[in-house]
Amino acid sequence: MDFSLSDEQRMMIDTVRRFIKEELKPLEDEIENAGSLDQAKAMVIYEKAKSLGLYGMNMPDELGGGGLSNMDRILCEEQFGHTTDILIRRAFGNVYEPLLHCKGEQIERWLKPAVAGTRTCAIAITEPGAGSDAAGIKTHAKKTQIDGEGGWVLNGSKHFISDGEWSDFFLVSAKTGEKEISMFMVDKGLPGFTVGKDQKMMGLRGTPHVELFFDNVALEHLALLGVEGQGFKIAMGALNVVRLAQVGARAVGKATHVCELMVGYANDRHQFNTKIGDFQMVQQQIADSVIEINAARWMVYHAAWMLDQGLDAREQIAMVKVHAAETLGRVVDRAVQIFGGMGFCKELPIERYYRDARIYRIFDGTSEIHRGVIAQSVIRKGAGLFDVNR
Ligand SMILES: Cc1cc2nc3c(=O)[nH]c(=O)nc-3n(C[C@H](O)[C@H](O)[C@H](O)COP(=O)(O)OP(=O)(O)OC[C@H]3O[C@@H](n4cnc5c(N)ncnc54)[C@H](O)[C@@H]3O)c2cc1C
Repeated sequence: MDFSLSDEQRMMIDTVRRFIKEELKPLEDEIENAGSLDQAKAMVIYEKAKSLGLYGMNMPDELGGGGLSNMDRILCEEQFGHTTDILIRRAFGNVYEPLLHCKGEQIERWLKPAVAGTRTCAIAITEPGAGSDAAGIKTHAKKTQIDGEGGWVLNGSKHFISDGEWSDFFLVSAKTGEKEISMFMVDKGLPGFTVGKDQKMMGLRGTPHVELFFDNVALEHLALLGVEGQGFKIAMGALNVVRLAQVGARAVGKATHVCELMVGYANDRHQFNTKIGDFQMVQQQIADSVIEINAARWMVYHAAWMLDQGLDAREQIAMVKVHAAETLGRVVDRAVQIFGGMGFCKELPIERYYRDARIYRIFDGTSEIHRGVIAQSVIRKGAGLFDVNR
């Protein structure tokens, strides 16, 4: 087993790390205070990231993306965890894997502009009445004729849709039969399509999370992504890698960043004439954090390696989702404790990291849902799931 990184991987990590430190980190406080990212600054970030080849890195190179392996992507996503959500979106893109199901004219209309960053995309599955039960949606699309050609009429609503205000089009799940779900590309500005209010959140300041309303929205036949009735499969299959990258790897990166700050503070802060890092109860919190972060990191790398080998990593990614998200939660909680009053005070970013971390256990499938998936699989398959040598 070779755990070393190649020179190319190290260079790639250094480039991403330097970009985040020099271009993104200085904007974080401003976004936190204003509650939004300035449009002009967003454009500057995008242009700079694009010129360095950092935008849409997760997409194949023949489409203008970075052509990275899953492992390479994970190494970058881990670095993304060192900054804030809205800045990651503007610098590196929201180019979701389900878009790779685009065919023919769809490629020019939606996929390539998304990879280039000229059109931004959001994914819209959750509804007020259907969250964990993503198949329980009410939004539906009915076949119709538009100008003599087959099309669809979309009705329903979505909520909590990340980045909705910035997005030019949405990947929307809708029922196309009693039990069938299909995915559609829905352009902002279509008659009957309204973007509702920004639903204010505990954390992730600067990223809008919006409601969407579809009232008899006429869609061309071309708006259907992939095969009719296969939308659930498309979304769940392709979102697996998104979950590993955007939740697993970013949680590890964020926990690492917080841990670095916590260790720095334990060295600098003195009480009782000694640094607080000399106290065993502080040391235990640091040791537990380092152990858990490293375990989560290797789980993320192992799942990425499995994907690169063409193996089915669904259960491993479910385990990553739970462990990395919960590790991040424990690490930020310990960081608040070690920083004491300064951990609770808005003069330092620790309280922000604490708030931002909480969502990791909820979005992209809650810890409870993923634990259910893991338990059902292990009961069915036995030890093969937790003993990699079988
Ligand atoms: C900041 C943020 C960003 C988001 N971004 C997006 C986005 O871009 N696009 C999108 O489509 N969605 C998005 N979501 C929605 C997110 O994926 C859902 O909130 C999440 O899937 C949980 O659904 P819910 O909120 O309806 O909770 P519910 O499904 O109502 O769950 C409530 C509680 O019941 C538990 N529960 C439910 N079912 C079970 C079960 N079978 N077994 C055990 N426990 C169960 C849950 O674990 C949870 O604790 C976002 C949400 C937030 C808060």
